[in-house]
Amino acid sequence: MVEFINFILYVYIFVIGIVIGSFLNVVIYRVPLEISVAKGRSFCPRCHAQIKGYHNIPVLSYFWLRGKCADCGESISIRYPLVELFTGLIAILIFAVYGFSFQWLVVFSAGAILIGITMIDFDTMIIPNGLVIALMAPALLSFFFFPQLGILSRVIGIFAISLPMLILALFIPDAFGGGDIKLMAVAGFMLGWGNTLLAAFIGLLLGGAVAVVLLAKKTPDKHMAFGPYLCIGIMTALLFGDIIIQWYLNLFGL
Ligand SMILES: [Zn+2]
Repeated sequence: MVEFINFILYVYIFVIGIVIGSFLNVVIYRVPLEISVAKGRSFCPRCHAQIKGYHNIPVLSYFWLRGKCADCGESISIRYPLVELFTGLIAILIFAVYGFSFQWLVVFSAGAILIGITMIDFDTMIIPNGLVIALMAPALLSFFFFPQLGILSRVIGIFAISLPMLILALFIPDAFGGGDIKLMAVAGFMLGWGNTLLAAFIGLLLGGAVAVVLLAKKTPDKHMAFGPYLCIGIMTALLFGDIIIQWYLNLFGL
């Protein structure tokens, strides 16, 4: 019986995640175009037909419509259901770590915003201020729901990575965007200094690896978005940071 209730909870959390992922698709599409995310029904970008409610069910509608607009037949990017599914999986992963709790709500809010930042930065190379400001909400809430992380660690976290990035950006223009710096300042308050260093380390490692591949391919566009890798680092640190840091310290018998 307990297993059954647990299973129902997981399904419930997955559905919440998918629905939030569906809203994230709206955010990812509209915010860079400066269209309000609250106003107006979703529409087809080509024929501008409003998408009917029963054609707007996350994930399912994409497969029901075989990936095409019901009105004009324009193909719909596979990205939409993938973002929805991924958000659902992240919701479950956070649930597996934190259970049904306020901690889940705080970390999932942060995760959802980070998914939005990742996709928009990939698309436009810009991290919108609105999303960094939105991230302040879970960051501030984490102060109340993760009280074991002291205020001092959080305040140091604000500057631990953002300040070196800012200084680097002064000497090497285009090294980072202003959005990356602001992102790491807000994430720093949420994570505390230790996990902020870990998040930046993971981001640098992943971003660096991708940069090497891009350089090897001699792609003409030298610019790459760094935000997505920082977001992966922040999310990893939020979920497993304490475990990773403890494991690392154990390596040295500390
Ligand atoms: Zn259409």
